[in-house]
Amino acid sequence: MSKLDAKIPKGPIDKKWTDHKNNIKLVAPANKRLIDVIVVGTGLAGGSAAASLAEMGYNVKSFCFQDSPRRAHSIAAQGGINAAKNYQNDGDSTYRLFYDTVKGGDYRSREANVYRLAEVSANIIDQCVAQGVPFAREYGGLLDNRSFGGVQVSRTFYAKGQTGQQLLLGAYSAMSRQIGKGKIKMYNRHEMMDVVVVDGKARGIIARNLVTGEIERHSAHAVVIASGGYGNVFFLSTNAMGSNTSAAWKVHKKGAYFANPCFTQIHPTCIPVSGDHQSKLTLMSESLRNDGRIWVPKDLEAAKAIREGKLKPTELKEEERDYYLERRYPAFGNLVPRDVASRAAKERCDEGYGVNATGEAVYLDFAAAIERYGKEEALVHGHDANDQNLVVKLGTAVIKAKYGNLFQMYEKIVDQDPYTTPMMIYPAVHYTMGGVWVDYNLMTTIPGCYATGEANFSDHGANRLGASALMQGLADGYFVLPYTIGDYLADDIRTGPISIDSPEFEEAENDVKKQLDFFINNKGTKSVDYFHKRLGKVMWNNVGMSRNEKGLKEAIAEIREIRDEFWKEVRVPGEVSEFNQELEKAGRVADFLELGELFAMDALERNESCGGHFREESVEVGGEQDGEALRDDKNFAFVSAWEYTGNIAESKLHKEELKYENIELKQRSYK
Ligand SMILES: Cc1cc2nc3c(=O)[nH]c(=O)nc-3n(C[C@H](O)[C@H](O)[C@H](O)COP(=O)(O)OP(=O)(O)OC[C@H]3O[C@@H](n4cnc5c(N)ncnc54)[C@H](O)[C@@H]3O)c2cc1C
Repeated sequence: MSKLDAKIPKGPIDKKWTDHKNNIKLVAPANKRLIDVIVVGTGLAGGSAAASLAEMGYNVKSFCFQDSPRRAHSIAAQGGINAAKNYQNDGDSTYRLFYDTVKGGDYRSREANVYRLAEVSANIIDQCVAQGVPFAREYGGLLDNRSFGGVQVSRTFYAKGQTGQQLLLGAYSAMSRQIGKGKIKMYNRHEMMDVVVVDGKARGIIARNLVTGEIERHSAHAVVIASGGYGNVFFLSTNAMGSNTSAAWKVHKKGAYFANPCFTQIHPTCIPVSGDHQSKLTLMSESLRNDGRIWVPKDLEAAKAIREGKLKPTELKEEERDYYLERRYPAFGNLVPRDVASRAAKERCDEGYGVNATGEAVYLDFAAAIERYGKEEALVHGHDANDQNLVVKLGTAVIKAKYGNLFQMYEKIVDQDPYTTPMMIYPAVHYTMGGVWVDYNLMTTIPGCYATGEANFSDHGANRLGASALMQGLADGYFVLPYTIGDYLADDIRTGPISIDSPEFEEAENDVKKQLDFFINNKGTKSVDYFHKRLGKVMWNNVGMSRNEKGLKEAIAEIREIRDEFWKEVRVPGEVSEFNQELEKAGRVADFLELGELFAMDALERNESCGGHFREESVEVGGEQDGEALRDDKNFAFVSAWEYTGNIAESKLHKEELKYENIELKQRSYK
C-alpha cells in the first residue's frame, strides 16, 4: 500500500466520520491504562489532545518548552473561533462552513477532513462553554458572533480580542485536572530534540531539559506532534519568538512526509515593519475588518505628502480616498479572504500609494463605524443623533468595548491613537497551512506518529480562513484524535512498556548530543540571529507574497549558501549543561535553514497561483478577474508530500490527488 494512503472512509461525505467512528478499533477502558502516549505541545491542539486522552484513561506524557502549558503560542490568538451553529439565523450550516473552508483554501484541501471539521465545530463551542470559557454574549445572554473574511455569515465566536487565551485556559484546566490525578505527567521547559523510531514505529522522543541541559529518553506507544507552525522561517512573523519547526522537522527527517511547505498565510492586518531592530511583528486581529475600512489615497501626490508628514489622513475627503477592497470586491468588501486582502494591499503599495515612511502600509479606518454605532446608540438612548461630539463619544465607546485591547496594543506600539486617526497596517507572515502530512486518522507516514493542529497540513488547503485554526486544533485534540488513535493503539494492548534502552534510543540520543556539542565548540564569528535574519530576508523577498521562477531558484541557492556558512561560522556562547537560549535557537535555526530550502523547492514546483501562494507566471488576463491569481486545477490539484531522502535537494515529491466530489471546482471570485 502506498505510504500516501489518506484512508478516507467510503460513503457519502456527511456519513463518513460517523461510519468511521463506528467501524474503527477501540481500546477497552482497562487496557487504556496499559498504554502511554507522548504529546509534544500544549497549545490548543496538544493541550486538548493530552487532556482528552488522559480523561479516556491513557497515560500521557506532555511536553512544552515554555514554563507552563498555558504559555503556548495559542494564547496569542485574538479574533475568534468558527462554528456552524447558525445562532444568527443567517443561513449557516455544516455544509456552508465546509464549503467556505474548501473555497477559502482555494480547493487545495481534502474534502473529507474539512467536512469533519465543520461537523465537529459546533461540539467545540459546547465543550468550551462547559469548561467555562467566557465567550462574548449578546444582551439577552446568548453567545455572540462576528464575521471573518471570506464568508457571508456570522459564525465566529470570540472572547473580546483574547479568544486563544480563554480557550487555552479551558484546555489547561482540563489538563490540570489530569495532572492532578497523575494521568498526565507534565514536562515543562523540555524540548523534543528527536523522535525515536523502533521497528518502523514511533516509540518515543529524546528531550532536553532546558533548565539543566540534561538529555532525557522518553518512551511511549505513540507520539503526537502538536508543536505549532513554522512561520518563523521568515524570521519576522506574528508568531511567538519561540515558535519553531524543529519537532515537525525531526519527524520529517525520520520518515514523515512534509506536505505543502510553501503554503503560508500572509495576514493583511499587521502593524507594519518599522526597521531592522525588530524581532517580531504584531497582528491586528482580522475581526477589525468587521468595522474598519481599508483605504489609501486616490492620488499619488497625496500619498507622498502623507509619507513625508505634510498631510494627515484625516484631512483627506471621502472622495479623495480609494477604498480599494470595496471597489474591487463589492460582494465581500473589506472581508475578502486574507490572501486576497494581502495581495491587494501589496499591489497598492507597489504602485506608490503606501502611507508610512517605508511606503509599505495602508489605512484601516474606524471613523465610519464610530459614526454608525454612535448614531445608533444616540437613537436608542433618546439623544440627539445630530450632535456630532456625542455621536463620536458614544461610537468610540462601542468600538472600545469590542476591540479595546487591540486598540490599546496598537497605541502602545505605534504611539498613535487609532480612535482618532486610522491605523496603519501591512501584510505579514502569520500562519503555515503546510505541515506534516497526515491521513484521515491524523497519522503521519511513520506508524504511531500523529500530528495535530498547525503542525499538520490537513484542513486549510492553500489559505486559511480566519478563526479556523483554533477550530482545527481543538477539533483534532478534543474530537478526532481521541477516536482515531485507538484504532492504532488497539494492537498495542499486550506490548507492555517500551524500553528506553534499545539501540534506537541510544543512537538518537548520541546524535542529539553530538549536535549540541558541535554548536558549543564551533566558536564561530556570527550569532544565530545573524543567520536567521538573512534567511528571513531571502524568504520574504523571494518566497513571500509573490514568487517567480527566477526568484525561487535564487532563493534556493542563497539558502544553501547561508546554511553552509551557518555550519562554519555560527557562534553559540555558554555551555551545554545549563539554561542556554542561544543553544536552543541554534538547533531551531538549523532546522529552519533546511525547511527554507524545501519550502522554496515546493513553491518552485507549484507553478500555479493558489490561495496564499501567488505565482507571477500564473495570473488571469482580461475579463472580470483581470490580474487575479490563476489556479491550475488540471496540473496542480494535489497535495505535495515531500519525502526526506538524506539530502534536502534530493527530497522526493509524492502527490496526493485531491478529488472534489461535493463541491464544484471553480476559480474563486469574491466580486
Ligand atoms: C497573533 C496571532 C493571532 C491569531 N488569532 C487567531 C484567531 O483569532 N483565530 C484562529 O483560529 N487562529 C488564530 N491564530 C492562529 C492560531 O493561534 C494558531 O494556529 C494555533 O493556536 C496553533 O495551535 P497549536 O496548538 O497547533 O500550536 P501552538 O499554540 O503554537 O503550540 C505549540 C506547542 O508546542 C510546543 N513545542 C513546540 N516545539 C516543541 C519541541 N520541540 N519540544 C517541546 N514542545 C514543543 C510549544 O511549547 C507549545 O506548547 C492566530 C495566530 C497568531 C500568531
